[in-house]
Amino acid sequence: MKCEKCGANIAVGDDRQHAGQILCEDCYMAVMAAPKTCDPWATYSAKNTAAQGLELTVDQRKIIDLIKSEGPLRKEQICSALGIGEDAFQSDFATLRHLELARACKVDDQVHYTLFG
Ligand SMILES: [Zn+2]
Repeated sequence: MKCEKCGANIAVGDDRQHAGQILCEDCYMAVMAAPKTCDPWATYSAKNTAAQGLELTVDQRKIIDLIKSEGPLRKEQICSALGIGEDAFQSDFATLRHLELARACKVDDQVHYTLFG
């Protein structure tokens, strides 16, 4: 009997089956140890995008510039300084948080927004 993946000879009784293939112990372990496809690529490409400074909207760049020079700031301060609504800020901030450019923190028990680093 041979492993359908690497071609190694498999002793009788040592064969493993996965997705209809007969595999040797090593290949079977490799398949089972492979990370489940959850979301590593999305995070990776988001970081890549951030590193290149691409795809930030004008408002998102303004938020970064503002908290870089004056942060940490509260949501109300950011919204009034930039003239944007709180809903718009929330969705922009979600993007910035996902890109690991900005984060929330607590100052005097109130949520403030600051740079990630
Ligand atoms: Zn194998």
